[in-house]
Amino acid sequence: MNYSSELFSKEAIAEGTMAFHFEKPHGFAWKAGQSIDLTLVGPAETDAEGNTRAFSIASAPYERDIMIATRMRETAFKRVLRSADLGMKVDIAGPFGSFTLHEKSSRPAIMLVGGIGITPFLSMMKDATERKLPHRIYLYYSNRRPEDAPFLDLLNGLRDRNPRITFIPTMTDMENSKTPWSGERGYITRDMIERHAPDRADAIYYSAGPPGMVAAMRKVVNEMGVGDDDIRVEEFSGY
Ligand SMILES: Cc1cc2nc3c(=O)[nH]c(=O)nc-3n(C[C@H](O)[C@H](O)[C@H](O)COP(=O)(O)OP(=O)(O)OC[C@H]3O[C@@H](n4cnc5c(N)ncnc54)[C@H](O)[C@@H]3O)c2cc1C
Repeated sequence: MNYSSELFSKEAIAEGTMAFHFEKPHGFAWKAGQSIDLTLVGPAETDAEGNTRAFSIASAPYERDIMIATRMRETAFKRVLRSADLGMKVDIAGPFGSFTLHEKSSRPAIMLVGGIGITPFLSMMKDATERKLPHRIYLYYSNRRPEDAPFLDLLNGLRDRNPRITFIPTMTDMENSKTPWSGERGYITRDMIERHAPDRADAIYYSAGPPGMVAAMRKVVNEMGVGDDDIRVEEFSGY
């Protein structure tokens, strides 16, 4: 389905990273984890990649907005977004995809995420918390530094509200950070997963983000003896 919408707010959420909030069009319904195609209408500039990009929806279905979050690279699409006036019109197609939390709540969810790949998981975590879903959720979230980590405070808040969530943020480049950090350091590894998720037998594993990150996470999980049937991924092609 195609809808028109407009931008009603935007803000920086980490270094070089912004969130954009669009009005939820009348009749637009989706499941946490799904994505949209966002098209700029009559943008001031365009390039060979065109005026449409896919984005996971980072807000949850109970909220009033459609939020996307993205790394602000120097492409025509993102320059237009960055400088957009509130009220800018966009077209939204979707929702797309089946990257949603599994139904069988006795199986834990283990989410292995880097950077901007957090967007569908933020939606799933908000949704699971709001609806008091019984799933055990382990969210491993890797960034270079706290300054680069989108939605860190929001995710800590969800962890505080939902006792079924275990949140394991990890930083890979604290040497270049000015922010104090007492949490995990280094890449998400088998050892890190096993230390925090003792009841991981029968878990379903999730990863989303740039294809390189998703491939690395799949390799870690395969090496733990988990088959592809129990791994669900969303690749952000274009990174
Ligand atoms: C299902 C799905 C969900 C997605 N969800 C999200 C999301 O939540 N958030 C999000 O940010 N993205 C998401 N993406 C990716 C998104 O659609 C864009 O492709 C991405 O944000 C890059 O857009 P761009 O305008 O920066 O680059 P594009 O203009 O699309 O880039 C085109 C090509 O140029 C390369 N390129 C461009 N600029 C640079 C640069 N500065 N450095 C290195 N290479 C460069 C790119 O790697 C790519 O090969 C999703 C994609 C899919 C398929």
